[in-house]
Formats: sequence, C-alpha cells, structure tokens
Amino acid sequence: MFPFRVMLFALVAASSFTPVCVLQFCTDGDGDCHRHDATASSSRPPNTFTSRWNASASNLGRFRVSCKKLIEAFPIDEGGGNYARSVKNCIFSKSTPTPLKGPLRLAAASKVWLQHQQSPSREIVARTSYLHLSRQEVMEDILDLDVAVTRSDDFLLYASGGRLPPGSAPLAHRYGGHQFGYWAGQLGDGRAHSLGQYTNRKGEVWELQLKGSGKTPYSRSGDGRAVIRSSVREFLGSEAMHFLGVPTSRAASLIVSDEPVMRDQFYDGNVKTERGAVVLRLANSWFRIGSLEILSQSGEIDLLRKLLTFVIAEHFPSIHPDDPDKYLAFYSTVVNETAHLIARWTSVGFAHGVCNTDNFSLLSVTLDYGPFGFVESYSPRFVPNTSDDEGRYAIGAQADAALFNLEKLATALGPVLPGKQQSEARDILKGYVDIYHKRTHRLFKAKLGLLGEEEDDGSLIAFLLKMMEETHSDFTMTFRQLSEVSFQQLLNRNFTQLWALEDLSSHNLFPDWLSMYRLRLLRQPNDGDLERQQRMKNENPRYVLRNWMAQSAISKAEKNDFSEVELLHHILSFPFITQEAAEKAGYAQRPPSWAKRLKVSCSS
Ligand code: AMP
Ligand code: MG
Repeated sequence: MFPFRVMLFALVAASSFTPVCVLQFCTDGDGDCHRHDATASSSRPPNTFTSRWNASASNLGRFRVSCKKLIEAFPIDEGGGNYARSVKNCIFSKSTPTPLKGPLRLAAASKVWLQHQQSPSREIVARTSYLHLSRQEVMEDILDLDVAVTRSDDFLLYASGGRLPPGSAPLAHRYGGHQFGYWAGQLGDGRAHSLGQYTNRKGEVWELQLKGSGKTPYSRSGDGRAVIRSSVREFLGSEAMHFLGVPTSRAASLIVSDEPVMRDQFYDGNVKTERGAVVLRLANSWFRIGSLEILSQSGEIDLLRKLLTFVIAEHFPSIHPDDPDKYLAFYSTVVNETAHLIARWTSVGFAHGVCNTDNFSLLSVTLDYGPFGFVESYSPRFVPNTSDDEGRYAIGAQADAALFNLEKLATALGPVLPGKQQSEARDILKGYVDIYHKRTHRLFKAKLGLLGEEEDDGSLIAFLLKMMEETHSDFTMTFRQLSEVSFQQLLNRNFTQLWALEDLSSHNLFPDWLSMYRLRLLRQPNDGDLERQQRMKNENPRYVLRNWMAQSAISKAEKNDFSEVELLHHILSFPFITQEAAEKAGYAQRPPSWAKRLKVSCSS
C-alpha cells in the first residue's frame, strides 16, 4: 500500500524562496494619466459593437453605486492625481480611472445567450443541481440588470473607465503583502479602481471594481493596464470557478480596446504590443490579508482596529462588536474558511499560481486571477506559473502557502491582541491542517461516490492519486470517467473510448485498486449504480478551463472574434453537464499536443 499522500504538505512554512513574480514594467507612452474629465465622459466610442441582444437597455439608467460607506468609515488619501507614491494613514486613495482608448468592444458579459446553442434544459439543470452551488449570473442575479444593457454605449463606458456610474467616487485600495515569502511593502490597487458598492434587490452588497483601468498611486512603475490575454483568463477563470461551486470574485463584463499595451510576456526581452482590456469584477469585499498587514507593519494601529471593526461589522455578522474575543473569532473564521477554500481548489484541480498574502481574501474567496491553471496530467508538483521556478505555489503546496499566509495574518493582528489571545491565535492556527485534511478527505470521497466512512477510504484516495501521478492521468477526466462508467464496466475493465481511464489502467496496480474500489461500492447499502453515477457526475466536472481552451479563445479575441470566449463562458457555466457543443469542440478530449508548449507567466 502506498503511504497516505493525499494532499500531504509540510507543517513548517517554507521561508527561503526568492520572489520571482517581479513586475516587468514597460514604458507607458501615454505619460499623463489624469484624464478622467468631461471630455472623456462625453466622448462616445465609435459604434463598433454588434448587438447580440434585442431587448432594451433602459434599466441601466436607474443603476447606482455608493462609495459612502467606504469613504465615511476611513480616512481617505485625497492625494490628487495618480502619480506613484508611498501612501500613509489611509485605507483608500481617491483615484480616477483612465479611459481605455477606443474603439471599445464588449467581448463578454455574464450572462451569455448563444445564438446557435441551446442552454441545457431547466429539467436537466434541476436534475443535476448540486447542493453546494447556488448559481448566480452577474448581470441579472447580482446587478439586477437586464443583460441587454451591455449592448449600450453607456455600458461600454461605465465598464471600461470612460464614465463613472452614478454615485461613484472611485477609489484605489492601499495594501501590502508578502510575495513569495518576503515582505514586499506597499502594493495596493495599481491597476484597479473600486467604483463603489451596489446593494441588490436581495440586500447583498457587492463592490464593483474595474481592473486594467489605468494608473493609481499604487502603480509603482506599472502602466495601470491589463491586456486581452490576461483579462479573458480572469473573466473566464472566475466565472468557471463560480459554476464549479468554488467561492470566488465574479466578472460582469470584459471590454477590449485598441489601446496598445507593451508586455514582455516571458520576461525574455521580447517585448510585444498587445491590447488593453478592462474587466468589471465584483466581490462582497476586496480586502485582503495584505490590507491588514500594511497597517500593522507601519504601526498604524488605530487604523488597523478601524479596518477590523469595519470588516467584522460588514462581513462577519455572527461576531458581536462588543465581544472581547472578536478579533480571535474573526481570525478563527478566516482560518476555517481559508482551509475550506483551498480544499475546494484541490478538489477541482485548481492552482492559483500566486498565493501571496496580497492575493488572499479576508472573506476567503478566490481573488486576483493571474497565472492560474487546472492540473491536467496529475502531479502534486504542478506549477501553473512559469515564473515560479521554485514551485513554491505548486498545486500540492497551496495548503502550505495558505498556512504561511494565515501565520502572517496572525502577525498582522498581533498589535490588537493581548498576549494571551496571541497564543490562542497560534492554537487556532494549529487546527488548520486538520480542517483542511478533513474537508479534502470529504470532497475526494464525494468525488469517488463513497458514502459513510470506512477506515481505508483515505488509502483508497491516496492510492488512486498516486497511480494517476505515475501514469500522468488527466485529473478532471479520470474522476469524470469514473463517474460515467457503470459498475459492470468497472468489473470488466471496459474503458474503450475513456481515454483518461485507459491511461490510468496502464498502472500495474490498477486491478488491485479497482477491486478495492468495487468492494467498497458494494458495501454501500441501497446505493444503485445510476444514483452513484449521478452523484459523482455532480461532483466531477466534465469541463474545466484548460490553458489550451483559454488560449484558443484568446487568439480569436485578439482578432475581435469573441465567439469562443462566449462558447467557453456558456459551457463552463454548466461544467457538470455533457454538452453537444463542448463535445464537438473537443473540450472533454485529450488536450491537443500543442497544449504542452503553452506557458503562463505573471505578465498580464
Ligand atoms: P498581481 O500580480 O496582478 O496580483 O499584482 C501585484 C501587484 O502589482 C498589485 O499591487 C498590482 O496592482 C500591481 N500591478 C500588476 N500589474 C500592474 C500594472 N500593469 N500596472 C500597475 N500595477 C500593476
Ligand atoms: Mg494581486
């Protein structure tokens, strides 16, 4: 029997990594970034948008955001201007977006309606509905907007920084962070602007943010822009994660422009001209571990307390503001939820790529999609980010990286915790490993359709992952195909056309594992084959955003053909349901050979 290797990670946080995700900034030919003025507001992009919707765009006129709460809660850096600087004693700086240069095009909006493809019927969606997932389309379910508004010029401007939605007083957030193990000092929103909060008809509060909307006081030597390549990935990646049931920021729209943006994609001196894009993204809060760290590190303890009080009051309603242990209760919740989040990442084969403290949300949602990836040929050493030479953020090391980040959170809270509570915080953190393991174990058991608990379940999972690693079996499709085969097929080892299981079955110990698995399934009383298959199909997606799929959509989007972005968005909105168009596109097939050559770096 193989040792229990599922999601094994060292308890001791690694501390000797070099920061490799350095920003490679290019000269910004633009010079002046303080251009959000009446001219920008009134300038309309040429009518380059071809409508795919016919409904009226009228309800955009009633859309309003508010920055009141954020502005009134904290001292604000009025600074004046987006010039890069070190900022103190504030949580936000006032900062105006720099409009993208037109013509502007809407490349995607959440929700999609394909012209030539039917969505899976309500009946199918209901039958396959997975309990852990409450589906929300951003435009309609979160922003209360008819998706038809996205066809209007007003929307193009609002969603790209060309005009501010009513009520907006745009802000850039000041935060710091530990990057690749080292304190990096002030980071902050260097290319993002918070437009304000929107309270929807369900009473949920969402903070709207533009990413790629120009320089802020936190841009350092960056140009404040994001390119089409990384913006397509963020749009599709975050949407796909939501529909996989993983807590995440959301994306409402993706606007592309013709504005030239220079990027050295692989940091090899080969600077290319790409095009600027802006994602309108949303989260209940964009505060990160780094938001607290910077205050603690710079001795701004009153402000640290203020931010904590705000975050707790707004987002942790079960913690009473007068509770003397409120910061500990907050810490304990973040530890618990972060362990759950990383377990969810592991269970869908997601590697974030840059698990720095500035990219770790205080609400434990997936944030800041950069060089992320879904593991294909399974290996715990899968590193999606080619800039991460040391493999610090390999998929099998993410739980360890989160532990490191949570330690940094405890350190940041140090100044507001009396000595006794500091040691209690350390005790809370000791529980993290166990929470993560238990959660991962439960998720993987569900992936295998196992009910109840048996002593050898952990070994069964570990054994399978080890064989997958040694046979380079595809993570997503191995689990999916195990969900799709009948018990009879498992008995006969009839895996014709099941490419991932064919790979897996080449392992010399596969027959042993299979008989253990079959016997385990047979010990489940009242569990029919169809029930098991359905249950497993609801846990194991058939489609994830593989790099080659994203790349194919990006290449077309760069030529203003957004059909594949739209197709992928649609398919990935129903990842657990077999779809004709996805099958035709080969999304559940063995990845093409050119996929192996794809590299994703921090350059974005
Ligand atoms: P990221 O790796 O995208 O999470 O970014 C890390 C830090 O670098 C954040 O403070 C970003 O705002 C900043 N940053 C990344 N790219 C740019 C850019 N092109 N211009 C300005 N700041 C940037
Ligand atoms: Mg970031």
